[in-house]
Amino acid sequence: MEIYEGHCLCGECRYFIRGKPIDAGYCHCNVCRRACGGPVVVWATFLRTGFESLGEPLGEYVTSSGNVRKFCKKCGSSLLLLCVEEPTTIDVNVASLVDPQSVSPDYHIWCQSQLSWFDTRDSLPRFGDRGPDSARGRAMACAISAKDTNQTPKGKSDSSLSEPVGKL
Ligand SMILES: [Zn+2]
Ligand SMILES: [Zn+2]
Repeated sequence: MEIYEGHCLCGECRYFIRGKPIDAGYCHCNVCRRACGGPVVVWATFLRTGFESLGEPLGEYVTSSGNVRKFCKKCGSSLLLLCVEEPTTIDVNVASLVDPQSVSPDYHIWCQSQLSWFDTRDSLPRFGDRGPDSARGRAMACAISAKDTNQTPKGKSDSSLSEPVGKL
C-alpha cells in the first residue's frame, strides 16, 4: 500500500496517509487563495480512513460554508481541508507533502475566480465551479478555457467557496 507523508514548515505537525489519492486539482477559489497565501492551491483528495495526524494538534478555522481548514498553530502552514459536503474524504495541501511531486493535478476548479495574471501551461480540464468535486459540478461539467474564465462574472451565489472576502 502506498504511504504519503507531509508536514508543516516548522515540522511540529506531521501526517501520514495510507492509500492512493482519489484525485488532485488546482483550486483557484478566493478562500483557498487567502487561506494559503498563494495564487492557487493544489489539493489532493484522500479517504479519511487512511489519514493519521501526528505531532502537535492542528489549529482549525471553520469558514462560513462549514468547511474546516486546518493549519499549524506555530508556523501557520495550511495543511488540510475538510469539506462539509464530503464527510468521507480529506483534502491535503499537496505543497505540504514530503514529496509534492508524487501527486500531480488532474484538473482546475473555481476558474471563475482565477487571477487574470496567473495561469499554468497545461491542457487539464478547467471548471468554473466545483467541477469534479461535486455531483452537481459533474452534471454542469463545462470545461472552459482560461481566456473565457477571465471574462466570467465572479462570485456565483450558489458556490460555497467563492464567497465574498468579508465573510471569511
Ligand atoms: Zn508548523
Ligand atoms: Zn478552494
